[in-house]
Amino acid sequence: MPWTYDTSNIFARILRGEIPNKTVLETADTLAFHDIRPQAPVHVLVIPKGAYVDFAHFAAEATEAEIADFHRTCARVCEMLGVNGDGFRAITNAGAHGHQEVPHYHLHILAGRPLGPMLVRPA
Ligand code: 5GP
Repeated sequence: MPWTYDTSNIFARILRGEIPNKTVLETADTLAFHDIRPQAPVHVLVIPKGAYVDFAHFAAEATEAEIADFHRTCARVCEMLGVNGDGFRAITNAGAHGHQEVPHYHLHILAGRPLGPMLVRPA
């Protein structure tokens, strides 16, 4: 599938330094920062610095080094935030049905309270 990356998306602007962020951890290929509208006491977003639209794009076209760095950064963030003991949820949204708002691949790391079931079934 050909992916088209919109360079005006908000995370691209954060990566260019045009918008501030509360950085948790930064590596050569990955940035982790606090979500601006946290949905749990801990809500961190982890993004690759490369221009990838979503999970499928990243998994298909990122280098082995980018993929390793991304996942190791996620693990280091969990360690730094102390969420491994009580647990956390790591989720990514993709496309319209996934309700993805920002078209730059990101993993949400949510923790700090019991998070309940993953989805609420529609009535
Ligand atoms: P999505 O719905 O695409 O999976 O999640 C996008 C996330 O980005 C949302 O949780 C939203 O609160 C967060 N977000 C949107 N704009 C900004 C911003 O300018 N700064 C930060 N730190 N987070 C943002």
